[in-house]
Amino acid sequence: MSKRDYYEVLGLERGADTKEIKKAYRRLAQKFHPDRNPDDETSAEKFREVSEAYEVLSDSEKRAAYDQFGHAGVDGQAGGFGGGGGGFGGAGAGGFSDIFGDVFGDIFGGAGGGRRHPNAPARGSDLRYNLELDLESAVAGTSVDIRVPRHVECERCDGQGAEPGSSKETCPTCAGHGQVRMQQGFFAVQQTCPTCHGSGQHIKVPCHKCNGEGRVRETRTLSVKIPAGVDTGDRIRLNGEGEAGLNGGPPGDLYVQVHIKPHHIFEREGKHLHCEVPINFVDAALGGELEVPTLDGRVKLKIPPETQTGKLFRLRGKGVKPVRGGAPGDLLCKVVVETPVKLNEEQKELLRTFQDSLGGTNSAHHSPKKSGFFDGVKKFFEDMKP
Ligand SMILES: [Zn+2]
Ligand SMILES: [Zn+2]
Repeated sequence: MSKRDYYEVLGLERGADTKEIKKAYRRLAQKFHPDRNPDDETSAEKFREVSEAYEVLSDSEKRAAYDQFGHAGVDGQAGGFGGGGGGFGGAGAGGFSDIFGDVFGDIFGGAGGGRRHPNAPARGSDLRYNLELDLESAVAGTSVDIRVPRHVECERCDGQGAEPGSSKETCPTCAGHGQVRMQQGFFAVQQTCPTCHGSGQHIKVPCHKCNGEGRVRETRTLSVKIPAGVDTGDRIRLNGEGEAGLNGGPPGDLYVQVHIKPHHIFEREGKHLHCEVPINFVDAALGGELEVPTLDGRVKLKIPPETQTGKLFRLRGKGVKPVRGGAPGDLLCKVVVETPVKLNEEQKELLRTFQDSLGGTNSAHHSPKKSGFFDGVKKFFEDMKP
């Protein structure tokens, strides 16, 4: 299941400030709180979603990572929510007002940290790959090979970190807890075990290939199928193609983030395409037939007489077929009348003769817009007179 955008979950704009985030969260969390919706799985799921969104957006560092990399920027590092949110699920005892009182940040802030057991399997991080596509391939669909550097499970030791034939043993310093207690005056302080660095296990003979890490860095070429109709902002998820997990945990996912390169003729707006087509002023005045470009070749477009510059012509179905299905969009051609350049004397003379035939420069009959405009200007200056 792909995750919803965190801003969308909280119903916020991307630029929302801390206060707005808190307010939106408070409102939604109260609405979906398990205490208010006993035995309602949908509400429980919504509550988790809202809480997770808040956890990220209320933390400036996580929020920055999310803004830049999306879910891939914050997934996998949190760890807090799936299992660590214990303080929350069991909130029945604390009651409602406590939870939504002033203790806010602490509830979540504290939960994220290193409570997880050091040897518990951890899911690998998600990865993100930015893929630039030209418009034609995005519209038609394509298949691309991408090279992704990432950590993969070490084959020599099956991700265990120990040289085959040798085994891991429980760390003698911390007896496998990964943490050691230190007495400092009245306080007992927990520290990460200096011998095993928190893993709780001691590898006697580290694997020769991965030096005991259990995973190795590798660049793999993946073939990615791009469905027809993708647009900038779409993501394609490749299950299990992210970083290898730790301690036998599952790998993360790879997200291919699509960016469409600017096209020299077409501009895309969702499923519609826009383009500008220059026409000369004689065709604009008399009408005619134009050849316009579409993604599947040229088509003829009839231009009626007296076409003004800026007029839009819609070619139905010549846009993009959306990736999520539905009817294809349209191609909107905007005609732009081009003033002739580099005229020779004879052509200029023809135009002057033509101009005379119109009966002077301000002919209301042939140029209603222009004469209307100058009438407006005249009135404007008259109104200004004291
Ligand atoms: Zn240890
Ligand atoms: Zn290894």
